Amino acid sequence: MEQKLNQLKARLARIADLSGARSVLSWDQQVMMPVGGAVARGDQMGTISGLAHEMFVDEEVGALLDELYQEYAGNAYDSDEVSLVRVARRDYEKRVKIPTDLVVEMAKTAAMGRQAWQQARAENNFAIFAPLLEKTVGLQVRLADILGSKSGNPYDALLDRFEPGLTFEYIDGVFSGLKKSLVDLIEQIAANRDRVSDDVLKRDYPEAAQIAISSEMAQALGYDFNRGRLDKSAHPFTSGGIHDARITTRVDDHFLPSCVMAVIHEAGHGMHMQSIDEALYRTGLDTFGLAIAESQSRFFENVIGRSRAFWTYWYPKLQATFPHLSDTPMETFYKAINKSAPSLIRVEADEVTYGLHIMLRFEIENELINQRIKVADLPALWNERMQSYLGVTPPNDTDGVLQDIHWSQGGFGYFPDYLLGSILASQLWDAFKREQPDIEERIACGEFAPLLLWQREAIMKHGNKFTFPEIAERATGQSLSWEPYMNYLRAKFGDVYGLRAKGH
Ligand SMILES: [Zn+2]
Repeated sequence: MEQKLNQLKARLARIADLSGARSVLSWDQQVMMPVGGAVARGDQMGTISGLAHEMFVDEEVGALLDELYQEYAGNAYDSDEVSLVRVARRDYEKRVKIPTDLVVEMAKTAAMGRQAWQQARAENNFAIFAPLLEKTVGLQVRLADILGSKSGNPYDALLDRFEPGLTFEYIDGVFSGLKKSLVDLIEQIAANRDRVSDDVLKRDYPEAAQIAISSEMAQALGYDFNRGRLDKSAHPFTSGGIHDARITTRVDDHFLPSCVMAVIHEAGHGMHMQSIDEALYRTGLDTFGLAIAESQSRFFENVIGRSRAFWTYWYPKLQATFPHLSDTPMETFYKAINKSAPSLIRVEADEVTYGLHIMLRFEIENELINQRIKVADLPALWNERMQSYLGVTPPNDTDGVLQDIHWSQGGFGYFPDYLLGSILASQLWDAFKREQPDIEERIACGEFAPLLLWQREAIMKHGNKFTFPEIAERATGQSLSWEPYMNYLRAKFGDVYGLRAKGH
């Protein structure tokens, strides 16, 4: 059996190398590549994706997986070997259904789509992106049809790609419970909106100083710059693996959180990659599902990065970096970075309204993939729903339907994972505080190491071994539920806005 396992590992290692190479090419496209490189890059990505796919869906891999699966039946579920076979087999059964020509076509279209999306944003013209998006939706519908789903909802097949086992019905069950409570809190905040101003965040913040202090924060939290780097891109992202996990940000000279919070978020992803158990390197388990990923990035960004304890330590340093802040007390700044108001841009939304941005996308995606709505109708539909959910209408498509990169990449089924990650993040925080009740005092003193240590043990080191519901249960002792998230939001924003507790 040892020999069979080694044969399988040797194959998975080569596939992992291709996937690593692809992620460097993708990083390059978003950070360095000249516009004219898009077609060639599309070809390269297509070839590499096709090769990786063919190597993986090979009959011999299928036979090895079947034999090893039988052999390991009854062995410890969470051992590396058993997990490797279980996860690889689950992926194999999905991927073997997908024809190589579709894989290549999707990779090429994604590379072209990215360019069209960037151009459409620059020129504020949805029509530039629409044909590529139509093609992408068509490919996704075809993919969903090939993969199939137990429920008969094609969107489930796509949700499952980013976080195995999650379905529209499951997510909708969590979201619809949450929605009512969120809307209720948003209304309470709206009635007290004058109590918090974020004017202080809109002062002059020169780019170089923003990058410098953000990097310092990332490093203090535990992001390892020897195995990472920070660059600028249109849409912040993290890519790579254990030994080279790169992060990016964007900078607005007149809105501090755009850069600082993006860096903390992406550093959360970066630390996650860097913290995967070395034993999982090149096995295909050295990655993670996207809801699990977001539980880490949004933990560092929001639960920690927007906490009073965090800024108790960092605010004096921020004042030293930007001397105009000397007239502003810490408490004013803390409230400013937690200002909650309906806004246009998801990545800049506060923690309370964020959920509604996700629900809007989740519902639109479900309808698009079920072909109940058309690409051409998206801009109007988007604006209509923004108005009805959040009470704001985008002045243009760049700040509306064009704001996110995901659809240009064929990333349908990804968005709900952000909110599921946030929900898990607050459950993790509760579990963490039960174990280390003085953690907030330690953070306020600049002691950040316990955060990464705890998350590494609870979540990060496991890579892709467990599903989202499994890891939630293992790390917190409870299954995923939205109530702790809502309790967290009520307590925090009740304090920030001086709301009187209602009878919840
Ligand atoms: Zn993220």
